Amino acid sequence: MKIRIIGGGPAGLCFAALMQRDDPSHDIVIHERGPRNATWGFGVVFSDRALDFLRADDEAMYRLLTPHMETWPNLTIVHNDTRIPIAGNGFAAIGRLKLLSLLYARVEELGVRIEFGSAIESLADQRLGDADLIVAANGAASFVRQENEQRLGTTYDWRPNKFIWYGTSRVFDSLSLTFRDTEHGVFCAHHYRYSPSMSTFLVEVEEDTWKRADFDHMNPEDTIRHCERVFAKDLGGHPILSNNSCWRNYPVVWNERWSFDNVVLVGDALRTVHFSIGSGTRLAMEDAIALWTALREKRSVPDALARFQKLRLVPMKKIWAAANVSLRWYEHMGEHMKLDPVEFAYSYMTRTGRVDHAEVRRRDPALAAAYERLHPEANVS
Ligand SMILES: Cc1cc2nc3c(=O)[nH]c(=O)nc-3n(C[C@H](O)[C@H](O)[C@H](O)COP(=O)(O)OP(=O)(O)OC[C@H]3O[C@@H](n4cnc5c(N)ncnc54)[C@H](O)[C@@H]3O)c2cc1C
Repeated sequence: MKIRIIGGGPAGLCFAALMQRDDPSHDIVIHERGPRNATWGFGVVFSDRALDFLRADDEAMYRLLTPHMETWPNLTIVHNDTRIPIAGNGFAAIGRLKLLSLLYARVEELGVRIEFGSAIESLADQRLGDADLIVAANGAASFVRQENEQRLGTTYDWRPNKFIWYGTSRVFDSLSLTFRDTEHGVFCAHHYRYSPSMSTFLVEVEEDTWKRADFDHMNPEDTIRHCERVFAKDLGGHPILSNNSCWRNYPVVWNERWSFDNVVLVGDALRTVHFSIGSGTRLAMEDAIALWTALREKRSVPDALARFQKLRLVPMKKIWAAANVSLRWYEHMGEHMKLDPVEFAYSYMTRTGRVDHAEVRRRDPALAAAYERLHPEANVS
């Protein structure tokens, strides 16, 4: 089979590895716009059981990636100067560039060709030639999706909060969410170590806070200095680092139809999942697994693409919907910060509706007990 993949992110690389591993006679080329040794962002986090989802389908990839991940069993909520560690929330993280480099090595070893610096801007591009299958794995701003929104039934929901993806050399001992009141409003940092010497430090604010702080008129250096002042106690003298970082709004993307002709969308091109539940990369890789499974089950490409959507829709939509509830909690963080720190942490834990009181108690009996002292009615069982 001749397969051309647009985009060498986790979705495209994972799909290429699975296909080529099963049948080395496949002719697979990945066209990646960027260079081999650079990417956007810093580290990414995986929630719950990290890469367990990958183990059954690609043990080799699981073994390749797992040793490079930073892991910790708890998360910490910081409400101004009150730290509330919450047990029972395992996370793992890895640098995005490290993850990609490992995946590049894996797919190239299997025989896939990756063309770096190879942007594809049109489906009529000759480099896609007479491919049997074209996989649009080119991320949230996919031109394939944007140029075919009507046939795909694409919807966008641009969210009001502003976020900026920074890093820092301060290494944190757990995944932390730090919320600090300022004269302009509440600032939130999602921060966690992703290597022995680096952490992600993603700053998020409500739109009104962003306007009051005048970020609209601030240059990148002053923006960093401002965030460093807000989070001075958390950074402990370490600098905030930029990687072409800029303020962005989050687009919630969905498509009713996932393919047309011999073209299929996977990963962020197909749908975005807010970073607050740490599942975007995992979902991108799970899309790849589902597409590979569908191609193994079905003889023709159209049948396989229909099967892909059928296989994947329900499990994916569940997480996508949870992420959409989660992001809304951050859109009211100013209101939530008026809560007592224990209530605040509890509100965070239960924000998507997937964790109820019994589950809080199972994960962290101390937090549940502290909450019950404030709200005895919660202790009904
Ligand atoms: C601020 C932020 C924080 C995040 N944090 C997390 C996290 O903690 N955990 C997590 O799991 N996920 C996180 N995510 C989401 C995660 O990064 C994505 O879900 C994941 O990268 C999707 O993988 P993908 O392969 O679909 O797309 P991408 O990783 O976006 O890869 C797409 C690739 O396509 C290439 N490309 C684009 N256009 C073209 C073109 N025209 N021609 C050729 N190549 C092209 C790009 O250069 C890129 O390499 C975060 C996202 C953001 C924005």
